[in-house]
Amino acid sequence: MADFDIAVIGGGLNGVSVAREAAGRGLRVVLVEQDDIGGGATAASPGLIHGSFSEIERGAFLRVRAALTERDILLRTAPHLVQPVRYVLPVHEQERPPAVLRASLFAYDRLAPRGFHARSRELDLTHHEMGVPLKRSVGVAFDFSDCLIDDSRLASVVAMDAAERGARIMTGARCVRTDRSGTWRVALISRGQREVIEARVLVNATGGWTRTFAESVMRLPPPDVAFERATAIVVRRLFDHDNVYVFQNGDNRLVYAIPHQRDFTLLGIVSQSSAADPASVSATSADVDYLCRAANRYFRETVSASDVVRAVAGMNVIPAGDQRKRLRRDGLMTFDRKSVEAPLLTIFGGASTTARRRAELAMVRLGAFFPGNSSWTSSAALPGGDFSWRETEDRIAAAQERWPFLSEKNASRLFRAYGTRIEAVLGDAKTMDDLGPRFGDQLTGAEVRYLMKNEFARFAEDILWRRSRLGLTMSRPDRDALALFMAAPA
Ligand SMILES: Cc1cc2nc3c(=O)[nH]c(=O)nc-3n(C[C@H](O)[C@H](O)[C@H](O)COP(=O)(O)OP(=O)(O)OC[C@H]3O[C@@H](n4cnc5c(N)ncnc54)[C@H](O)[C@@H]3O)c2cc1C
Repeated sequence: MADFDIAVIGGGLNGVSVAREAAGRGLRVVLVEQDDIGGGATAASPGLIHGSFSEIERGAFLRVRAALTERDILLRTAPHLVQPVRYVLPVHEQERPPAVLRASLFAYDRLAPRGFHARSRELDLTHHEMGVPLKRSVGVAFDFSDCLIDDSRLASVVAMDAAERGARIMTGARCVRTDRSGTWRVALISRGQREVIEARVLVNATGGWTRTFAESVMRLPPPDVAFERATAIVVRRLFDHDNVYVFQNGDNRLVYAIPHQRDFTLLGIVSQSSAADPASVSATSADVDYLCRAANRYFRETVSASDVVRAVAGMNVIPAGDQRKRLRRDGLMTFDRKSVEAPLLTIFGGASTTARRRAELAMVRLGAFFPGNSSWTSSAALPGGDFSWRETEDRIAAAQERWPFLSEKNASRLFRAYGTRIEAVLGDAKTMDDLGPRFGDQLTGAEVRYLMKNEFARFAEDILWRRSRLGLTMSRPDRDALALFMAAPA
């Protein structure tokens, strides 16, 4: 008998979502990630959890409804990670007329599941706090409800749930060869050691590597996909509220300005076709200039390339040809099933908002091989998410009462990262010193140990840029101390 029912290659949101869905159905699952969970395209996403205003304009109403349903499932199952906010879309006289925006948002409101979020409104920015950071010429806006999340954190929490349901999660394990017969023999180099595992089904969820993985590792014809480099930049804070601005541009594209780690603003996204290697994809100066120009069209404060504290780029995989526009948010799945050979499912692209649903559909495709199990993830809380999002502020206040030595900023950060698992991070600590060494003003040895034990963190970078975004503010000596601590945690 094969060691596993399913081997998933790739630990981005697509891969971890399939691993979780399958493990929760009682299947024997292994997930193989060459680097860190959520380290590929997933780490570059600014984390918009939305139905997508652009999709409304394309008339893709069913897809918008499906994405808005997923948005609300995430809010219910991961209330600590998801933040409901208002998206503020200023009217620009040379762009879409107000009547068009009003009609689109009317449809957006009607497509959302009822009861969760406030409807869209028209705002007079000359008398509204949302207008304060914007230029005087921007007089009117519409605002509507959507959410934000940190995609990398979501990926590691999804992987943790898969592991708690029995999946084997291997990070730092590169799949170097697959051989297909009645089962798959999958050869890995895992932390310097060669290992071979056997699985009944293989899932290729390697994101930007999809084509090279098919060609060079599996020695199979690659799927018909195209690649897009998507870029976002981080600058000092341009406004001090929690909502998102959606800016229209002369070329019909939308640019988002998103609050990021209290002290910063993230500006994104600009996408361009690209043939670069996903491992070395990076923001170009043209991408950075484009995003700065878009911000300068609206904000009073000007930003330029020299203000950029971080630029992130990731490779999005999109269907090639005619399907390109239609399926870019859904992503695509191909299923290669031969009578005598083990099946191969390839899953790529799509929005992180809908990754859970894609994983559910992947299991539908595999239904003939694993009959008798049903979908479960739409109502099961992710680790730490077993409470209602409406209680978030009360829960943060309760955490501050239970651990009074925490600053308001740190209590909020910890609860929004770990939810009810905050107990496992802080335990019975009475003072900051009980939490071990400190790295910067917020991260402690206790949190690092928790992340290494439960969330697959191995290196300082994993914690600084993916389990948290503390890398933006941590000094070099603190980062070095963190790396030393993680090499031999006390
Ligand atoms: C810049 C950017 C912004 C985005 N913004 C949004 C947004 O705001 N909202 C939204 O809903 N969606 C957004 N998306 C889309 C979304 O983030 C991704 O589509 C989603 O995270 C799914 O990624 P993935 O799992 O397919 O790929 P990835 O995250 O790239 O994961 C693929 C993984 O496969 C691993 N791998 C490759 N080869 C091997 C091998 N041989 N062995 C083992 N492992 C291997 C890689 O290391 C990588 O971790 C954005 C995407 C990008 C790039």
